[in-house]
Amino acid sequence: MGILSELNPAPIWIYFEEICRIPRLSKNEGKIRSYLINFASEHNLESKEDSAGNILIIKPASPGLEKRKTIVLQSHMDMVGEKNADFPHNWLTDPIVPFIEDGYVRARGTTLGADDGIGIASQLAVLSDTNLKTGKIECLFTVDEESGMTGAINLKPDFFEGRTLLNLDSEDEGILFIGCAGGMDTVGDLTYKNVSVQKGMTGFEISITGLHGGHSGDEIHKGFGNSVKLMNRILLDISNHFNIALNRFDGGNLRNAIPREAFAVIAVAKSFKDKVIEQVLNFRTVFDEEFGEIEKDLKISIKEIEPPLSAMDKETQVKLLSSISCCPHGVFAWSHEMTDLVETSTNLASINFIGENKIRIITTQRSSLESSKHDVAGMVESCMKLAGAKVVHSDGYPGWKPSLKSEILKITRKSYLNLFGREPLVRAIHAGLECGLIYENFKGIDMISFGPSIRGAHTPEEKIEIKTVGMFWDLLIDVINNIPDNGIRKSPKQAQPRV
Ligand SMILES: [Zn+2]
Repeated sequence: MGILSELNPAPIWIYFEEICRIPRLSKNEGKIRSYLINFASEHNLESKEDSAGNILIIKPASPGLEKRKTIVLQSHMDMVGEKNADFPHNWLTDPIVPFIEDGYVRARGTTLGADDGIGIASQLAVLSDTNLKTGKIECLFTVDEESGMTGAINLKPDFFEGRTLLNLDSEDEGILFIGCAGGMDTVGDLTYKNVSVQKGMTGFEISITGLHGGHSGDEIHKGFGNSVKLMNRILLDISNHFNIALNRFDGGNLRNAIPREAFAVIAVAKSFKDKVIEQVLNFRTVFDEEFGEIEKDLKISIKEIEPPLSAMDKETQVKLLSSISCCPHGVFAWSHEMTDLVETSTNLASINFIGENKIRIITTQRSSLESSKHDVAGMVESCMKLAGAKVVHSDGYPGWKPSLKSEILKITRKSYLNLFGREPLVRAIHAGLECGLIYENFKGIDMISFGPSIRGAHTPEEKIEIKTVGMFWDLLIDVINNIPDNGIRKSPKQAQPRV
């Protein structure tokens, strides 16, 4: 007996503990795949796999309930492997060791894999429950969600038949998710000529550090400073007053993070040295006033150094600073349908001198509307193209547009209210989910995502709140029990006889 089998509801915890013993990092899902296939045959259930490695296990309708709409329950079978540096753990062979602490289940030294092991466990508990009287249920287990979503990308529309899907990969009890953002990258490469720096110049290294940064989806609306934009303002301002030569300009590193730091190296005539220092440091007051408390650790510094030997040509320098200045960053549009949902945004993620006289500017766009995502990406492209940069877009991934008219939303909301006596929150998120890809590939599919509360996912601090697992289970079963019949309802009105 495992240590979690005492918890309620027992089946979900027993399966969860069993899954903890199966190594299943992204791209190494072989063991969990065989486990699922064996599970299906042990329970006399039909199962199938596709070429991407996704698995479907089918529970037929109970007698008399064949007319009910088929429902798809979906989780992802992989997990993120993070561990404490001093904790010995072989991700390919060792089991996760769960334990109970203060109302939560955690793991010793590693990620717990409740994201999305609890989704898998709930599917197995549903599939193995012989007392459950339901319509047909298809349980979809996707591969590789955490490192590229290749499972969801390669799903074929005939792999499952249901067009009502419950995604079991959310981490906040009490919130029903009904939409997510799609994303894409827009990257510009600008080539410059290297020119020598004149005699009589001095060098400066300018840095901006200590900004908050944050996730380019979840936190784009919070108004944090963008270090690349702020550095560009300083450079543009001093280049309007003094003859400066730009040697380097680097800032930001991750495409899905708001940049926190930026660094530049310039050369300027010695006679303007003091004025340049003064003008750069004036920005401390300017930025303090603009950001106040939300960027209280923002630091600007300027240090005199040996003048650089070379710099970029003047024409490209003007084009670069102008294009960063006009390149948008932040929220582009809010949803008209849902309050507090950022619909479209763009993140000016980084600028780097990448060698061979090239500067690379990386930006990412997100939107729950495909057309708006492409619109804002086009806008960013135009800023870069006007500066003479070569611009490429990544294919990206599609969004899932929220619909407040969704049937499954109505059913789930009603179940939640009946069970817990309060309304759940209904949200969409400004980040990517597998649902966006499924929405794109399965036209007309009706989806919702919910789950128990998980904190610290993707870190060794990951933990799942025990009491919310019970609530999640009750909600899941109630929703399954309330799925309506399929097919066309006959009009109750009788045809009127002609008179
Ligand atoms: Zn997940």
